[in-house]
Amino acid sequence: MTGPFSYVIVGAGSAGCVLANRLSENPAHRVLLLEAGPTDTSPLIAMPKGFGRLLLDPTHAAYTPVAPHAGNAHRAEVWARGKMLGGSSAINGMVYMRGHSDDYNDWVAQGATGWGWADIAPGFKAIEDHALGADALRGAGAAPLPADATSTGGAAARTGGVPAGVAPAGRRCVRLRASASTVQPSATAVRQAR
Ligand SMILES: Cc1cc2nc3c(=O)[nH]c(=O)nc-3n(C[C@H](O)[C@H](O)[C@H](O)COP(=O)(O)OP(=O)(O)OC[C@H]3O[C@@H](n4cnc5c(N)ncnc54)[C@H](O)[C@@H]3O)c2cc1C
Repeated sequence: MTGPFSYVIVGAGSAGCVLANRLSENPAHRVLLLEAGPTDTSPLIAMPKGFGRLLLDPTHAAYTPVAPHAGNAHRAEVWARGKMLGGSSAINGMVYMRGHSDDYNDWVAQGATGWGWADIAPGFKAIEDHALGADALRGAGAAPLPADATSTGGAAARTGGVPAGVAPAGRRCVRLRASASTVQPSATAVRQAR
């Protein structure tokens, strides 16, 4: 697909893929999604434990040195991120944690209108396909994020995440793949940006 484009999205990671997915639902939109890394064809991406190797591979990971500061006890840290289609969703630990409801409500108390638990919870439920089925806290059905049956799944889970993102046959569910069912290929061009 050639330009002009209605939207140019820089970075085909978790956020970029969701954005491209939503924008391309409108056939009038021509969406260009630019990604610095390669395509997501490495078999290590589909393997949940493959991220250990990918993290050490500069083709699929980017390393950003972080200046020492008081918040990290003045340590010299390097932050690793995914660098490929799917971004860090192709390389992450697949732990799903929605955060504590009080934390969202605290944000509202500090002025972040629209970010309370009551506002956010329907969004979480909409993306979940929980093995324990739908209830007041969990979502299930034709949603992109498979969540594991070991979930405590509560709104008040502040510590401990939920294993999630393992699609049938034990494959990692990468953000780009999860979005692919509704992405309109005719409306979206994905390019490698170097
Ligand atoms: C090792 C690791 C483990 C993690 N484990 C978990 C976990 O278990 N549970 C959890 O919830 N979260 C986890 N995370 C965090 C989670 O994966 C990220 O918060 C999330 O994927 C970030 O999404 P994003 O869209 O902001 O960025 P990313 O998904 O990182 O996407 C950014 C994309 O932009 C591209 N890009 C950057 N600059 C440019 C440029 N100039 N031009 C073109 N492309 C560019 C990058 O290559 C990348 O593909 C983990 C992250 C890492 C790195």
